[in-house]
This record gives sequence, C-alpha cells and structure tokens, in this order.
Amino acid sequence: MAYSQSEIRQILDSENVKFLRLQFTDIMGMNKNVELPVSQFDKALDGEIMFDGSSIEGFTRIEESDMLLKPDFDTFLIFPTLVEGDARGKVARLICDIAYPDDTPFPGDPRYVLKRQIEKLQGMGFDNMYAGPEPEFFLFWRDHEGRPTTVTHDAAGYFDLAPVDKGEEARRDMVNALVEMGFEIEAAHHEVAPGQHEIDFKYEDALTTADNISTFKLIVKRIAINHNLHATFMPKPVAGINGSGMHTHLSLFKDGQNAFYDEGAEYQLSDTALHWIAGLLEHAEGMVALTNPTVNSYKRLTPGYEAPTNIAWSASNRSAMIRIPARRGVGTRSELRMPDPACNPYLALSAMLAAGMDGIANRLMPPPPIQRNIYHMSVRDRRKHKIRELPGTLREAINALEKDPVIKSALGEHAYSHFVEAKRQEFDAYRVTVHEWELDTYLAEY
Ligand code: GLU
Ligand code: MG
Ligand code: MG
Repeated sequence: MAYSQSEIRQILDSENVKFLRLQFTDIMGMNKNVELPVSQFDKALDGEIMFDGSSIEGFTRIEESDMLLKPDFDTFLIFPTLVEGDARGKVARLICDIAYPDDTPFPGDPRYVLKRQIEKLQGMGFDNMYAGPEPEFFLFWRDHEGRPTTVTHDAAGYFDLAPVDKGEEARRDMVNALVEMGFEIEAAHHEVAPGQHEIDFKYEDALTTADNISTFKLIVKRIAINHNLHATFMPKPVAGINGSGMHTHLSLFKDGQNAFYDEGAEYQLSDTALHWIAGLLEHAEGMVALTNPTVNSYKRLTPGYEAPTNIAWSASNRSAMIRIPARRGVGTRSELRMPDPACNPYLALSAMLAAGMDGIANRLMPPPPIQRNIYHMSVRDRRKHKIRELPGTLREAINALEKDPVIKSALGEHAYSHFVEAKRQEFDAYRVTVHEWELDTYLAEY
C-alpha cells in the first residue's frame, strides 16, 4: 500500500494507535526496532528520530553513533490483535532506511545495499527482480521456564491432513495474522520433518520481498509464543532429518514482460535467463556466506535431505542448486534452493542480484542442465560434468566470499567488512568448542 505522510498521521489518529515501531535490520539480519509513544509520532514521520548506531551489531564505531531513522511510508501497517493484543493500545510499524545526521544514506544499512543493486538492475534496462520465498521453520515446545526445546508434538509428514497437531493451530493463526497485514499467502503446509512447516507468500519486487521476509519471521515467532511454542528459522535444528530452507524463486521483468521467457528457444528460456543462471552458478561459492550465513547452515547442505550440495542447475531435479519450475510465460523463473531462512534477506537478495547481473553483463552461458539426481552421481561422474561442490563450512564460505569481487562490491566496503569480521568470529567460537560428538567418539576410544 502506498500512503502519504499525512494519510498515515490520520490513520494513527483515527485508529487510536498508541505505539509506533520504527523497524530496521542489522547486518546479521536481526530485526531491530525503536518504539515510540503518541507524543513522538510527528517527529517519527518527519524522519527525525535518532538512535545509537554503535549499539547495533555491524553498524558503526562509537564516534559516529548518531543515526536517523527514515520511515518508508509504503511499509506502514497496524499489527493485528492476534500479534499485539489490544490491552495496551494498538501498535503500528514503519520499516526505515538509516541515514547519517546530514541525511546521507548509511552504507551499512542492508536495505540500502539492496536498493543499490536494484538501481543497478534498472540501469541495465530491467523493471525489477521479483522474488518469491518459501521459508520453512520448525515449531518446538518450550519447557516450563519458557526455554525452547527441540521436542515436537506431532508425527505428521509432508502435506498430511489433520494430524493431531497443535502446530496446525499455531500455523493457522500465523496465516490469519499475515493475511490481515496484507500478505498474500499462496500455501501453508506441514513439511517433511516432524514439527516442520512452510508458509509461502506471493512474489513481490526484491525490496518488498526482503521487507516481507523480515516481517514474516517476526510474526511467526510472535504467534508461536501465544501457543507456548518456539518457532525457529535455524537451518538444521535436528540432525538426521530435513533442515529448513528458504527456496527463492527469482525472475526479471523488462517492459512489463517476463524477461526469462522465450517461446521459441531451447527449454523456452531466453538468453537473459541462461546468462542469469550462469551468473548464479559462477558466483555460488561467493554468495553462499550470505544466503547461508551460520555455522549450522552447512549442516543442512548435506546429501539426502532435499537441500542442494552441488553447484548445478536442472529443469526439474530437486537435488540441484537451481531448479527451473515447469511454469512458462509470465511465471518463468529460477528457483534457488540453497538459501536458508537464517539469512539477512536484504543481503542475500543483493548477492543473488549481483551474481545474476554479472552473468547478464558478461553474457555467461551455463553448462547443460543436469537431469539426474545429483546425490546419486559418483564423484567421477560429477567431475566429468564439471559439477562443483558448495562450500562445506562457514569458513569455506567466507573464504570464497573474500575471493569474489562481484559479491564483495555489491555489499560495499562497510557491510562487507563488518559481515566478514562477525562471521569469522562466529566460526572461531564454534571451532574452539568441544562438541558432544567429539566426546562420544574419542573420550572412551583414546
Ligand atoms: N527442507 C528442504 C531443504 O532443506 C526443502 C524441502 C522442499 O523441497 O520443500 O531445502
Ligand atoms: Mg518446502
Ligand atoms: Mg521449493
């Protein structure tokens, strides 16, 4: 919805909204917000609310800590009572861009990083990139102190109907709340693993989709609490069963037409589509730190759990990193299957855009699609087809990002250096920990 500042002011009054939340995400993709009472509404809408950027991970040094929150009026909404209750008055929110006190955009703002990539795409003559995400998540019980567990309470599988499942109720509340907030929900279902769910919402332009993903995560977590459940977007909370991905369907539009569709071409895919696919394949190693940003992400990217491990594309097979769904015409698109929902959606979509645009700019061509199940191919077979493996750990992923100037420059120096530094620390903390598996394997043996 597009609102003007004065329209929003009126709605805040007529709906008797008591709190206004100014929302943004840090470099790690965490939702942050500043909540304001009625007396501050005008100041907030004027973009004059300041916050201390140095207290936010990956933002600024202490000496340049004052930042302005600039609301994007298109993102205005009032939280439904399912989310916020009514007891203390209605709560509205606006997603913000972040600026220095002199109003120049802050280069460490993930939303700004994505806007820059979109501008670049538009400079190449495209209208926009459209992105449709398929976030998966688990619902677990909380213990008596409210701490999350990994205990589920259902035994349902993919698409099963009417299992005895508290998760179903929670998911229905999530869908209702999201619909009230203007999301167009295309599907909501139980996933393969016990306790695992997926809610798909309609594709939108890249920026709207990134905003939607961060709002979505907030709502899902919030509603789970109402049911005494914990919703987690951790990619692989339980070993030995499927993890949670966030497949992302991508297409480019030019002059209002799908730029990936070419009726007469092989696979009915345009040259633009082929260049795009080639760009995503070329930069797969370099972008995976952004699409799969945690130590745990790489435990999902293992064979046998419907998550990709190899850098290949396929017209249909789900073991490939890129799948081209059967739809053609306006629905022609590429499905990128490695991202997981722990990613910062702004930075992940920026990386995808940068990779694909590089493919288009350099007219890269992909190898022929692999139609077989890659999990079942031998190492020799894969080598023959020049199929590379995705990085196996966060450290390999960061090293690959450091070697990829295209993805690096898409992030810009500020976001890039803060991201890499934080991720190296995260990996090191993991590396020096002695894990349960090591004790089980070595303590008695040696
Ligand atoms: N959960 C799987 C993954 O880790 C995806 C399952 C599906 O195809 O929807 O990516
Ligand atoms: Mg799924
Ligand atoms: Mg999918």
